Amino acid sequence: MNSKILEIRRLDEAFLVNSKPIKIRQPVIDGILEYSAACHPREAILLLKGKVKGQGIVVEEVEIPPFAVHSYESSHFPLYMLPIDFSIVGTAHSHPSSVLQPSIVDLNHFYGRIMIITAYPYKSEQNLKVFNNNGNHIQYEIIRD
Ligand SMILES: [Zn+2]
Repeated sequence: MNSKILEIRRLDEAFLVNSKPIKIRQPVIDGILEYSAACHPREAILLLKGKVKGQGIVVEEVEIPPFAVHSYESSHFPLYMLPIDFSIVGTAHSHPSSVLQPSIVDLNHFYGRIMIITAYPYKSEQNLKVFNNNGNHIQYEIIRD
């Protein structure tokens, strides 16, 4: 990990201390749930793209990461393959086990500002939570178009 990435991570940590509102567009929620259901029983992983504004984070779209690897144990992608893309605000992945909590591995591989986890059966927002890099569950608002 180079010093630039470390610097970005430090900024992220500072940002999360004064946790700002998280807004997520409805199609992002639907996309995560649908993609996770399609990958089940394997884990799904997606990149969250959006904007960081003065008043908070807006998650606008999801993207399948390049070279994503799906397995029954975990889902991951090589971070060095990612473009330097400041529109990536975090990641989303699924827990086929239906445990709606980040694992230690998830927290060690935290990327970006927020992490969304969705758990089986991926039916609704009840099966989805947003976490910060301390593994704390954070509130969000859905933007319904
Ligand atoms: Zn996980």
